[in-house]
Amino acid sequence: MPPAEPGWQAAVDAIADARTMLVASHVSPDGDAIGSLLGMAGALGELGKVVTAAVDEGVPAELAFLPNSQIVLPKLTRGEFDLMIALDAGDIERIGQVGQYGLAHSRRVINIDHHPTNTRFGDIQLVAPEAVATAEVVFDLLHYASWQLSRDVAFALLAGLVTDTQGFRISATSSRSLEIAQALMEAGAPLAEIMAQTLNRRSFAEVALWQKALQSMRLRDGLISAVITQNDLNQAGLDKMTDGGLVNYLVDVDAAKVAVVFKELPTAVEVSLRAKPGYDVGRLAFALGGGGHVLAAGCTLAGSLQQAQERVLPLGRKLIGAGDSG
Ligand code: 5GP
Ligand code: MN
Repeated sequence: MPPAEPGWQAAVDAIADARTMLVASHVSPDGDAIGSLLGMAGALGELGKVVTAAVDEGVPAELAFLPNSQIVLPKLTRGEFDLMIALDAGDIERIGQVGQYGLAHSRRVINIDHHPTNTRFGDIQLVAPEAVATAEVVFDLLHYASWQLSRDVAFALLAGLVTDTQGFRISATSSRSLEIAQALMEAGAPLAEIMAQTLNRRSFAEVALWQKALQSMRLRDGLISAVITQNDLNQAGLDKMTDGGLVNYLVDVDAAKVAVVFKELPTAVEVSLRAKPGYDVGRLAFALGGGGHVLAAGCTLAGSLQQAQERVLPLGRKLIGAGDSG
């Protein structure tokens, strides 16, 4: 059962009072961002709300198999909303242009998330750092409110849970996560299909990108790193891809304590961080203007690849040097 916090009732009341609603999520959306977005949008639609779902750049092609993914708008330039719900976004920058529009054109804002670095923006916060995915928090809200769980909503939420836990493998996966997964499966969510479409597939282009990026791989004193250049991305035809995959792969190296992948963007660098249990990369990312979880975090730094490496790698080494805190 979700805790009986005032936030749950405040959120239910705010939803009951609203007719027009915007649901939004974070830029470069992953499975939990889209799963939570579609799950929340679906549940609100079934309550008879007028729902707009939007996230910058829209649903990535690999998540288009989720039911109703076509409802998600890639841009938002019109509309006034009684209520906006931001999902899986730790701070205001993270909800991108859709979020900026939504904040300016919504009477109230609910912030639903599971990042410990969440800045608690919005009027009502449902922030549960113990939840392994934002989809869990959405499930808890539906459960608290005793709303019906349709197959489509369950499908989307299970996709969020499966992707954020990497198939129930990450250390934060709890027995509660499995209970929720069970309830979602009982509501009709197809676990095997979700696994097959998310974790157990990749494009050849993605592996070709890894082939290039792995040539830059370095391991020193427990810090493993690799670089993805714009050139690599262009050659692989993957200029829009977000890469959680490579950094997850690198942190599994036995001798690695912390893994960093630097991805070059036109005028900035996206930094993905992962840690073995006992090391906190969430704090490191937060200090650099980003955020995330203890073991998986990221930030975007203005400037060149070299500047990003010069800034992040010494901090990574310092983190490892300070020793296992757990
Ligand atoms: P990834 O490395 O898969 O892009 O992100 C890992 C984790 O870090 C995710 O939980 C994600 O929400 C968080 N994260 C990644 N980049 C940023 C960022 O620029 N800002 C914030 N606040 N969080 C980020
Ligand atoms: Mn998430």
